[in-house]
Amino acid sequence: MPLPIVAVVGRPNVGKSTLVNRLSGEQYAIVYDQPGVTRDRVYRECFWGAHEFQVVDTGGLVFDDETEFLPMIREQAEIAIRESAAVIFVVDGLAGITDADEQLGGWLRRQNIPVLLAVNKCEGSKYGLSLAAEFWNLGLGEPIPMSGIHGNGTGELLDELVKHLPPPEEVVAESDEIKVAIIGRPNVGKSSLLNAFIGENRSIVSPISGTTRDAIDMSVERDGKKYRLIDTAGVRRKKNIDYGIEFFSINRAFKAIGRSDVVLLVIDALDGVTDQDQKLAGRINDEGKACVIVVNKWDAIEKDSYTIYDYTAEVKSRLMFVEYAPIIFVSALTGQRVTQILDRIDIAAEQHKRRVPTAILNEALNEAVTWHAPPTSRGGKQGKVYYCTQISDSPPTIILFVNDPHRFNDNYKRYIENQFRKTLGFDGTPLRFIWRGKK
Ligand code: GDP
Ligand code: GDP
Repeated sequence: MPLPIVAVVGRPNVGKSTLVNRLSGEQYAIVYDQPGVTRDRVYRECFWGAHEFQVVDTGGLVFDDETEFLPMIREQAEIAIRESAAVIFVVDGLAGITDADEQLGGWLRRQNIPVLLAVNKCEGSKYGLSLAAEFWNLGLGEPIPMSGIHGNGTGELLDELVKHLPPPEEVVAESDEIKVAIIGRPNVGKSSLLNAFIGENRSIVSPISGTTRDAIDMSVERDGKKYRLIDTAGVRRKKNIDYGIEFFSINRAFKAIGRSDVVLLVIDALDGVTDQDQKLAGRINDEGKACVIVVNKWDAIEKDSYTIYDYTAEVKSRLMFVEYAPIIFVSALTGQRVTQILDRIDIAAEQHKRRVPTAILNEALNEAVTWHAPPTSRGGKQGKVYYCTQISDSPPTIILFVNDPHRFNDNYKRYIENQFRKTLGFDGTPLRFIWRGKK
């Protein structure tokens, strides 16, 4: 189990980031005190006793008009709590209960997650208790008076918090291996490629038994980087002579895709892209996996100086589902460019789990909107894009907050999405976009 996540939610300026800083023992270099400044959801590692966990500040947004943007603040909170084990709901003891607190609190009560109610800015302890008492009215249990700036009360908060976390012995740091599936039709050269990898990386190769008896994963290491080759048993299975030509198990391929980070989609240069390859490409995209297209048996093709360009164009147009995937022409037989496959996998894997800071995303967004303003719909109302932020990775998923998603036609959406890909240089990974209107 990876480190549990604890979400810190609350309206702007109640002291969420001050609290997160204190819990993680870190200080921000930059202080954001201006309203309207966008901030990131930051993940900070914390520990208390034997418990290790990550705290995420959902502050993200500081808006001028809190009521108007409450749905968006809530959206941020919603995203964060989906992955969290518990929530710290921070309120401002000096300000007392506000409408926004009541709304957020009411919503939190309906979520199926433990909520700790932290009443911040309660510096003087006696004074703090009386300030905190008012917050019983939120119906979220006992309010815990505390001060992010002075530190009092945070111990009590953490004591309560860790009761809701999984036992420390169940928590292990996540592995950094890259999971790779080699898929393609029979005879395209998958096992030859596998042998080429293993041959080259003879240093450390070890089988790892998988979940089912015949799904065996293989671990390969190169320059200190670990790759887990998914279902190598499926790749190297014995050709079944008795039953004639080997059949192509799409289910097995789909399972391997599901378990991977990066898919090597192997195409036979002599056959070109087939319908089955297209089916696999569709699945790779649906599952949001990074992908590298490997055109194998390049040695067997008659070539002139145009061949590779023509072939690239052909593959690109036939494999539109994975238009993001780089194409590499190799020969498992001669070893030509085989080493480059792992390089491509590295890049694709890295991009697949990349997190782009909100400030940079919004710069890209502003740039795109300035070049090409959103369309005005027939009713004369113009689409407005307020803000965007990345809500998850693997694949990178970006949410765009707009006035009304229906005011943006597919062309414009595609334009924005392509601009992101171009300016941010995503390579080898699908990107997901969510267009969200104000409720
Ligand atoms: P956020 O928007 O919820 O992340 O809030 P910040 O952490 O940025 O804090 C908002 C303001 O409240 C800042 O001016 C902080 O200095 C102030 N603040 C934070 N914690 C405390 C506290 O414990 N006591 C007092 N008096 N002020 C605090
Ligand atoms: P798999 O069924 O996808 O695992 O394919 P194999 O690795 O078993 O290869 C199928 C056939 O293609 C074998 O006869 C290989 O020798 C041949 N083959 C594999 N890679 C290449 C290559 O790069 N060039 C050529 N000319 N033949 C290859």
